Amino acid sequence: MLKLLKTILRAGDVTVKYPFAPLEVCPGFRGKPELDPGQCIACGACTTACPANALTMETLAEENRRVWQLFIGRCIYCGRCEEVCPTRAIHLSEEFELAVTRKADLYVRATFRLQHCSQCGVAFAPEKSVALAADLLALNQSAPEQAQRLRDLACVCPACRRRDALEHHGSVNVHYYLKEQA
Ligand code: SF4
Ligand code: SF4
Repeated sequence: MLKLLKTILRAGDVTVKYPFAPLEVCPGFRGKPELDPGQCIACGACTTACPANALTMETLAEENRRVWQLFIGRCIYCGRCEEVCPTRAIHLSEEFELAVTRKADLYVRATFRLQHCSQCGVAFAPEKSVALAADLLALNQSAPEQAQRLRDLACVCPACRRRDALEHHGSVNVHYYLKEQA
C-alpha cells in the first residue's frame, strides 16, 4: 500500500481539471478561425483556398457589397486560410469551445463596399482591395503626378482599361469589336 502511495505521489497530476478550470492549449493549436475585418481587403484568397468550403464570398453588385462568410460547421481547422491571406486578416485562434444552441450562431459574416469604375461606373472590386492596389502602385513613385496617375488607374475597371489600352495602340474599330464580343 505504501509503495502504491509513493508511486502515486511521484507521478503527480496526470489529468487536467477542465472543464472546472480553463484548459491551456499547446502552441500552434488550431482553433476557430478569427477574422479581423479592419485588416481584411475582401480579396477572396481564403475562400478559394478553403478545402472544406467553410469560407465563401458573395458579390452583390446591385447592393454595392461583397459578403465574406465563415460557416464553422464545415471548418476542418486546416489553417489554409491563414496561410494564404495576404494581409494577415485571418488566423486560427485558441478557441475550441464551439458548441452553440442555434445553427445561425455557427456563421460569421463581414460586409465590404465595392469600388465603382471611375469611367463606366460599374462596381468591379472591393474598395479596400483597390485602395491597397493604388497604394502599392504609387509606393515607389518619386513624381507625385505619376503616383496620382497610377492611383487613378487603379480605380478603372479591367474592361475600361482594356478598351483604353487598345485605343492607345491605334486599333481600328475597337468599339465595334468590343460590342461584337459582348
Ligand atoms: S481552417 Fe481550413 S477549413 Fe477552416 S476556414 Fe480556414 S481554410 Fe477553411
Ligand atoms: S484572404 Fe485575407 S484579406 Fe483576403 S478575404 Fe480572406 S481574410 Fe480577407
